[in-house]
Amino acid sequence: MKKIPFFNYPALYQEQRDEFIKALDETCAKGAYIMQQELLDFEAALSKYLGVKHAIGTADGTMAILAGLIAAGINTGDEVLVPSHTFVATAAAIHHAGGKPVMVDCGRDHLIDPESVEKHITKKTKGIVPVQLNGRTANMNSIGSIAQKYGLIIVEDACQALGSKFAGRFAGTFGAAGAFSFYPSKTLGCFGDGGAVITDNDQIAEKIRLLRDHGRGPDGKIWCFGFNSRLDNIQAAILGIKLKQYDKFIARRREIAKRYDEKLKHLTQLLLPPAPNSEPDHFDIFQNYEIEAENRDALRKFLSDNNIGTILQWGGYVIHQSERLGLNTDVPYADAMTAKYMLLPMNTALTDDEVDFICDKITEFYKA
Ligand SMILES: *Cc1c(COP(=O)(O)O)cnc(C)c1O
Repeated sequence: MKKIPFFNYPALYQEQRDEFIKALDETCAKGAYIMQQELLDFEAALSKYLGVKHAIGTADGTMAILAGLIAAGINTGDEVLVPSHTFVATAAAIHHAGGKPVMVDCGRDHLIDPESVEKHITKKTKGIVPVQLNGRTANMNSIGSIAQKYGLIIVEDACQALGSKFAGRFAGTFGAAGAFSFYPSKTLGCFGDGGAVITDNDQIAEKIRLLRDHGRGPDGKIWCFGFNSRLDNIQAAILGIKLKQYDKFIARRREIAKRYDEKLKHLTQLLLPPAPNSEPDHFDIFQNYEIEAENRDALRKFLSDNNIGTILQWGGYVIHQSERLGLNTDVPYADAMTAKYMLLPMNTALTDDEVDFICDKITEFYKA
């Protein structure tokens, strides 16, 4: 019986193996490991791709969010609104910047719910971190007008959304700064950890450059206490190669999403993500294909028995459900969703036949 893993890590390497080996060999042969030309080249290519002034490589996406928050001016005691349906890293970054993460709800598309944002604003609220989840960008008109009305800083967690757009504008470009992750399973994944922050603001960019490299200024003195959080030069070289093919990868993901949608939309037991091209303002890149399913656990077991891998994002718990963190829990949609949500396989190694097989098995499960 054929096996469809949730994610195919070895395939990442095979896709462009010869180019990767060449880049590794060239970079290592000249001893260029930290903050060298390959990093500068990748940062320039990324800022060009997104049409922004600055792209700054960091060790990972978590540090990209943290550096963005600190540089944008989040301070000790500031309340920062963040959807509970996100990786804990988003809330941890707020915490480590000195802020207090305040949970807000998500809507049917699993992204931040503007109504819930407005409901959770207090006198102490200083910022919003919209999470552009699953490769989709939230309605940033609504979030932007709330931020403007209350004078709030926006720092986007676009770790899952490189290349996604709302109203023609890229995820990551709506606020003071935007953060990306290049974790291997992300749409632009490297061979280890990696991340980047983007901004159009020169002061914020300067601060992020300091923060990621021990606070070292161009004069050699320490301008502030920073972190050791640079994007490795070798990873930057690999990312530079992949970025050239990136639009092709996105197009394939959108094709897979369309196929899932066509073959599954007749099943009333499922809530599917919005289909590609179904809403003119949204260009989704499908980092994930996250559905809600009735009888979810039995469906997952049935798929697993048929050698199809699925996972639950964040291990099955949104952030406020980890009680030890002591966060607010008034986020009913996210709370109820965790009983139904799951991810179907979504990656460029999937074939059409495999997608069809997955859809047939899901249909078979609900027909029984
Ligand atoms: C992956 C991810 C991060 C963190 O990225 P790392 O590179 O693993 O630190 C943050 N937020 C979201 C939504 C993510 O998916």
